[in-house]
Amino acid sequence: MTQAFQKIAAVRGMNDVLPGEGTRWEQFEEIVRDWLRSYGYRNVRMPILEHTRLFTRGIGEVTDIVEKEMYTFTDSLNGDSLTMRPEMTAGVVRAAIEHNLLYDRPQRVYSIGPAFRHERPQRGRYRQFHQIDVEALGFAGPDIDAELIVMLSRLWKRLGLTDVRLELNSLGQPAERAAHRAALIAHLEQHRDVLDEDGQRRMYSNPLRVLDTKNPAMQAMADSAPRLFDFLGDESRAHFDGLCQLLGDAGIEYRLNPRLVRGLDYYNSTVFEWVTDRLGSQGTVCGGGRYDGLIELLGGKPAPAIGFAIGVERLLDLCSQTASIDIPPECEVYVVHQGPDAQRLAARVGEQLRDAGFSVIVHAGSASFKSQFKRADASGARVAVILGADEVASQTASVKFLRAEAGSEGSQQQIALDRLADVLKS
Ligand code: ATP
Ligand code: MG
Repeated sequence: MTQAFQKIAAVRGMNDVLPGEGTRWEQFEEIVRDWLRSYGYRNVRMPILEHTRLFTRGIGEVTDIVEKEMYTFTDSLNGDSLTMRPEMTAGVVRAAIEHNLLYDRPQRVYSIGPAFRHERPQRGRYRQFHQIDVEALGFAGPDIDAELIVMLSRLWKRLGLTDVRLELNSLGQPAERAAHRAALIAHLEQHRDVLDEDGQRRMYSNPLRVLDTKNPAMQAMADSAPRLFDFLGDESRAHFDGLCQLLGDAGIEYRLNPRLVRGLDYYNSTVFEWVTDRLGSQGTVCGGGRYDGLIELLGGKPAPAIGFAIGVERLLDLCSQTASIDIPPECEVYVVHQGPDAQRLAARVGEQLRDAGFSVIVHAGSASFKSQFKRADASGARVAVILGADEVASQTASVKFLRAEAGSEGSQQQIALDRLADVLKS
């Protein structure tokens, strides 16, 4: 009797990265790691699970993320409330405090990995997605603010992306925000009739966030609201002007967007986003800013900091439109064989070639030459190495070039095994 088992699908909004696509991710990550190293950033890896209070305190109670997007559950062993990280900054800062990383020096660090938000899945918006998170801890700027932005512009260039533009704003310091907040609440009270439910609820608890709405009916109200930028004092202005000057030096264009407030409470001073029109409504590929108060808020010794996060899925979507990431073949050399002695030899030849630095697939199992060659072709290999009874007897290999190069396509040569790696190299 056979039993039919039902298939089990992935959780909604959580994507599989399959072969081919996975290779693209890998290539992309290599480019990204090279780029980060070239600015002296070092890798850190924090747990995916953190105490819920890290995010409620760090990101802010009255934010989309904390109010409705977190995957939170109770640890059945001890009753702790745990949350799957919705972003990475809070965890990096917690770790920096816990391990006293800023004790005698500032730190440039980065982390790449998944984050989780319970949102409505659509293109560019998933429930598990990935971020490249970069943090400069203990730096007051504005030189480091500019460095981070220049650095991102270098990455876009490296990836061949021309259609991403920079939006910039300053959120000032707490006192400036307080003055603006009072003016803003007065404005919201005047326009109470156009506020949606979120707006009504947040107008006193987090009025700035009311302006970050995506609701078209509230755009006019948001456009006419008092601008935080106009409430900045001399010091905040000087910081912002310093940044703009350095961006000018680097030839980086930007647009001042007074509506840019970002979805997390911890930001102050410089905030920025890189956006594109090529991804539909999920057009922000990178967001970041300064969070000078967060380290203290999470129990550390006060220290300034700035960082950003790139959305990997959105950026890869953009890269696939410009074909800017080369995808290498499955292997360089594919070894085909016929007969038990040749199969044993094939395993040895495969190891020999790997010693010499080649990537090699040795055909597994036995099959006709014809079907093995089909596999060899599909693998994208440049060369097939062929081993049969004759080759075993003469300790040679037949080499066939599978890709057109200098008219050599299809030609086959007999080569002594001890010279094989050298010949393939040339
Ligand atoms: P959005 O306004 O699009 O919701 P956000 O302000 O919530 O973005 P951040 O918290 O700044 O996003 O996260 C940094 C980056 O991570 C975003 O710019 C975006 O590229 C990516 N990102 C955020 N949420 C998602 C998601 N649910 N799926 C895929 N990528 C995401
Ligand atoms: Mg969001």
